[in-house]
Amino acid sequence: MRYGIISDIHANLEALEAALKRLRGVDAYICLGDIIGYGPDPGECIEVVKALPGLRCVIGNHDLACVGKYDVNWFNWYARDAIAWTQERLTAADRGYLLSLPLMDMENSLTLVHGSLPQPMDYVTSAADARGVFAEMITPVCLIGHTHVSEHYAHTHGAAHVTHRSLKRGGTVKLDRGLSYIVNCGSVGQPRDGNPLASFGLYDTARREVKIMRVEYAVERVREKMEEVNLPALLGERLALGR
Ligand code: ZN
Repeated sequence: MRYGIISDIHANLEALEAALKRLRGVDAYICLGDIIGYGPDPGECIEVVKALPGLRCVIGNHDLACVGKYDVNWFNWYARDAIAWTQERLTAADRGYLLSLPLMDMENSLTLVHGSLPQPMDYVTSAADARGVFAEMITPVCLIGHTHVSEHYAHTHGAAHVTHRSLKRGGTVKLDRGLSYIVNCGSVGQPRDGNPLASFGLYDTARREVKIMRVEYAVERVREKMEEVNLPALLGERLALGR
């Protein structure tokens, strides 16, 4: 079985299409949330994601905020601006779809959550955070998003030592049988690991590996669209920098 793994699309249709082009032919898709918020194409991105074959999708904090289920005071001003703009553009069907998504899910020995365990909207940014997730996991692999940073953590069950590896230039995570893994395939539509290329993954169960891929997309076109609808310029600048 081959799964396409996408996360943190943030209404960036150009990046989403570039990622899906590369993943074409996979058996099923996994989405780790934040389909919308920040970018200029929320409705279009929801349409594309919900039509993906065999999709398992969990909800992210921006998705929740856009349907009024997450306190926007957690966000900085430009994220709040983009959320208010997005809220006005969602249809009842868009809202209904987002509200149907679970906070956590499981698929084929994978735990799926936007940010962390046990709190789905916490961030995993250190080995200490990862240790907290490993303590909660009942599957060998947990897939997360949320930080927009491509990386993975591994540990032997019951051991305190956690290893970490950055995947910001892409790479392959080989899944050893005796170890547990937390894998973040990065952000499709707003990478923040210093690499502006769209980031996503491919999990091959037969090969027992997750491959992280980075692809170019039309960043300038997305920035133009953001300017046309008066989304904060800072959000477009971040896309070009990958920060
Ligand atoms: Zn996000």
